[in-house]
Amino acid sequence: MSQVEHSCCCPAETCTSSVCWVCGNPGTPVKRITVESLVRERRQSLLATPEGFSFCHTANCAVVFFNNDADEYIKKADVKVRVGIKETEDPVPMCYCFGWTRKQIDEEIARTGKSLAVEDIMNRMKTAGCNCERNNPSGGCCLKDVKNYIDTVLKRAEQK
Ligand SMILES: [Zn+2]
Repeated sequence: MSQVEHSCCCPAETCTSSVCWVCGNPGTPVKRITVESLVRERRQSLLATPEGFSFCHTANCAVVFFNNDADEYIKKADVKVRVGIKETEDPVPMCYCFGWTRKQIDEEIARTGKSLAVEDIMNRMKTAGCNCERNNPSGGCCLKDVKNYIDTVLKRAEQK
């Protein structure tokens, strides 16, 4: 599917290059450094350019990075890290820079009733600095996702 084939048959807003054409949901643009750092060399060597890619956030979509203009859809198997939101079995990474997984957060909450993951990540960001653009497939900071996940687990624990 190319952009040209699509431009005649779908409304402009769904034809933007930031919509993953495999699942139909909007993605977010990532920088070239993210694609260069995380896509396996074998797959990367097939790309005309690492520019212009977006990250697909859909949990059950196998596509991680897509570039509709270049007609490139890079799937999980071609990405070096496990993509947390697309995994259901451990280990499910939450923070790619400092290695927090869902399981660690679950266990901490089960043990102590809370999680210090956010504090830990913020402290380490201050001292070690983070490298989200190179480590996190979404190319962004994990803190928001970690906070949301902790809230979800805490709510679930309250309901028990
Ligand atoms: Zn998708």
